[in-house]
Amino acid sequence: MYKGSNVLILGLAKSGNAAAALLHRLGANVVVNDMKPLEENEEAKALQALGIEVICGEHPLSLFDRKIDFVVKNPGIPYHNPIVVEAMKREIKVITEVEIASVISEAAIIGITGSNGKTTTTTLTYEMLLGASKKPLIAGNIGTVVCEVAEKATKDNLLVTELSSFQLQGTDQFRPAISVLLNIFDAHLDYHGTRKEYAHAKGKIFANQTEDDIAIYNDDDPTVKKLVENVIARKVPFSSTKKVDNGAWIHESSLYFKEEKIVDLGEIVLPGKHNLENILAAIAVAKTYGVSNDHIRKVLQTFAGVKHRLQYVTSIEDRRFYNDSKATNILATQTALSAFETPVILLAGGLDRGNDFDELIPYLQHVKAVITFGQTASKIMKIAEEAGIKTVKHVDNVNQAVPVAYELSEAGDTILLSPACASWDQYKTFEQRGDMFINSVHKLKI
Ligand code: ADP
Repeated sequence: MYKGSNVLILGLAKSGNAAAALLHRLGANVVVNDMKPLEENEEAKALQALGIEVICGEHPLSLFDRKIDFVVKNPGIPYHNPIVVEAMKREIKVITEVEIASVISEAAIIGITGSNGKTTTTTLTYEMLLGASKKPLIAGNIGTVVCEVAEKATKDNLLVTELSSFQLQGTDQFRPAISVLLNIFDAHLDYHGTRKEYAHAKGKIFANQTEDDIAIYNDDDPTVKKLVENVIARKVPFSSTKKVDNGAWIHESSLYFKEEKIVDLGEIVLPGKHNLENILAAIAVAKTYGVSNDHIRKVLQTFAGVKHRLQYVTSIEDRRFYNDSKATNILATQTALSAFETPVILLAGGLDRGNDFDELIPYLQHVKAVITFGQTASKIMKIAEEAGIKTVKHVDNVNQAVPVAYELSEAGDTILLSPACASWDQYKTFEQRGDMFINSVHKLKI
């Protein structure tokens, strides 16, 4: 398919690396260009060892002195980068690796996108599709590169992919058999320029679909609804607020697909209204592939969330522990707090980006204690006191916060790590912070 094509790979990291190696295997003439100097660029050295030409340390415009048929851009490189601008000026196609995936995949692609909830919905969909007759494979931001997984996929697979707006922006022929659009909030405007451009990038998930394909979308989100107006694919809506025809919806205490009851809300482990939207979307996919209600219910009775995203950790003496370390901004912590009606002990704080945390106050009504750490500790103490919370403690880190929270708790309480801040003041990553929380919780049991 790509045999003899002349390809420039722009930006390595995991996705560029995989795309370069794959296209080389498929017989393309690949040249790789990455900013990191060769001496410290292990990925580039490994590709060079395969016989691929690598140019590192700068993005010289002279790259276009040779014939280039198309550019595979790492999704992180902005379109205003001079080398990308030059490619477009020369009318050379600039794509992302998911475009290659759609060209080579023998498996039907299920593409899942949205501002929030992608990882959760992709994982849930994958778990549900384990009950389908075709074997699902999972790919995307989740850790595996889509084109690499696509290379191994056969007709007997379903390729479940998490797609960012950055990836979708670089698509041309990309055509999922099922597209899922969860929601559109203001995000990544630095990359896409305007909200309209951002929505346009998300909407590309439907662009090449035909009448044979399916578009699953959130009927409660006005921006999403507008985007699907002219979609050709068969539309399957979902809504957590009203009945929708031919879609997934909730009525009183049960969840339905079309006219059929699938599961009672009480059986679902995953907390939060936002997760109900993710569940509705995943069910719509699963039902399309004939997954039994029994299997769907089993998944929902056990799926405790993706790690670090409002992940249920354990229960000790009737105190439930949740790790939401991925909540690196105020909106995410608002979402997490809205997921609980029981009294909450909130663990929050981290890197100071200049926010005052006033916007959290309306969400703190059921919070009985706040334990804070990191650069923003004093700001969070201040708003917790303003919200009338009597117990507010300042500790050094997450490890210290856990036993303090437990000491303050009573049976029936929820102990929630949802920091509302990035982790880099004290931790390498939000994953490391979440792991510390989990370890400290398990130590309580000893
Ligand atoms: P993404 O992969 O899009 O970043 P995740 O599934 O990792 O999404 O969830 C990240 C955070 O986004 C969650 O912790 C939660 O705060 C919020 N979130 C998840 N799903 C939704 C949703 N459907 N609507 C609004 N917010 C959501």
